[in-house]
Amino acid sequence: MMKRLVILGGGESGVGAAKLGKKLGFEVFLSDKGKLSDKYKRALEELGVEYEEGQHTEERIFTADLVVKSPGIPDKLPMVMGLREKGIEVISEIEFAGRYTDAKMYCITGSNGKTTTTLLLYHILEKAGYDVGLAGNVGNSLAAQVADSLHQVYVVELSSFQLDGMFQFRCDTAILTNITPDHLDRYDYKFENYANSKFRILNNMRKEDLFIYGYDCEMVRERVERGDIVPKAVGFTYTNCAGVNANMDGDTVVAHLGDREFRIAKQEITIQGRHNVYNAMAAILAALKAGVSDEDLRMGLTTFPQVEHRLETVDVVNGVTYINDSKATNVDSAWYALDSMHAPVVWIAGGTDKGNDYSVLFDLVKEKVKLLICMGMDNEKLIKAFSPICEVVDTHSLDETMEVAYCRAEKGDVVLLSPCCASFDLFKNYENRGEMFKEKVKSLKLRVH
Ligand code: ADP
Repeated sequence: MMKRLVILGGGESGVGAAKLGKKLGFEVFLSDKGKLSDKYKRALEELGVEYEEGQHTEERIFTADLVVKSPGIPDKLPMVMGLREKGIEVISEIEFAGRYTDAKMYCITGSNGKTTTTLLLYHILEKAGYDVGLAGNVGNSLAAQVADSLHQVYVVELSSFQLDGMFQFRCDTAILTNITPDHLDRYDYKFENYANSKFRILNNMRKEDLFIYGYDCEMVRERVERGDIVPKAVGFTYTNCAGVNANMDGDTVVAHLGDREFRIAKQEITIQGRHNVYNAMAAILAALKAGVSDEDLRMGLTTFPQVEHRLETVDVVNGVTYINDSKATNVDSAWYALDSMHAPVVWIAGGTDKGNDYSVLFDLVKEKVKLLICMGMDNEKLIKAFSPICEVVDTHSLDETMEVAYCRAEKGDVVLLSPCCASFDLFKNYENRGEMFKEKVKSLKLRVH
């Protein structure tokens, strides 16, 4: 009898899983509690996959032999717990895809820096002529690409939610950038649980595989130093500690792997800031493992385009540089953004607070920020935290914010949108917040000319 595959969630990963399931001869049913986009409905219809939207018909879902669940659906959902209690396997799309390919997997996880590192490594390998695909949180579904046997190598961005649904999957090379508190609402508010989830990236790795980790992140380093890690573990550090595989020699990044040594001045790398040195080091070590030549590696690092919404320089208006870092949705990422600034900062922050502790930012704000413009429905917490440290203005819309920024920023200053909060109070999501910001900058420019 045909095996039944049920897919929960009809986004990029769900529809990709449906494609692979169909190809493998499963009877596939996809169920989404929300609305499916027209694009995905069409794709499912073309594949001949049955689906429902706006509801989960449990009688049907519980007949599954295997369930592929979107990472957005929590494990704690009674239906998901019920499936597992009945002995029905519930896995993520990446796990599903991994079972049907021998392609090499370069996987990236961490609290911050995942997307940048993933895109950079992909760019390096692609420029170097590898047959490489981009998958996971960023890019197209891995399952859809596996269904078409598209590539020999994949660079995959993994969130902790995806890792939670992975069991037999094996990375050939894994990168763990850092672990700082985020998404604790899905982990019983226990940092340890969230960290455990990130370390699942090591599951099933073999001795000959490579684990690349952020040495300067205590949470990560301490666990690595406990010594029970199977693959070869290599760290990266912003210090000059020569014992760590990637380190700094003055302003030069130095990376060692096996008998190779690669050096590049940090100014030569297109993405700037200390956090991007980390991201570059991680990508360099992975590229060395892949056997990329020095020349190709240098080319990749010096041609990588800016990543949208991540310290993206938008324009210069009246001598003021406007920077869009809308993706900085937690305190740690805003710390790195402020750390990379070399001019007086008019800082735009605020939005939906995720239980933030702002005190780690105080020193940097004192040193670099001349004015904080709070942009959110409710800015009370931000105002309370920062008004003893710098001048603070309270605004409740992007229009108001930009008017203040335009009037107060002087030639040579930077206006930095790095909100350290989620965007849902005033915007659809962080992309929408960044796009609107960029539009406003454009209109300021028109005002000048
Ligand atoms: P993720 O995909 O993990 O959310 P991104 O690469 O999209 O990470 O970067 C998100 C934000 O985090 C950026 O706007 C930047 O300010 C900050 N950031 C990027 N890389 C790092 C890093 N290695 N460490 C800390 N913060 C980082």
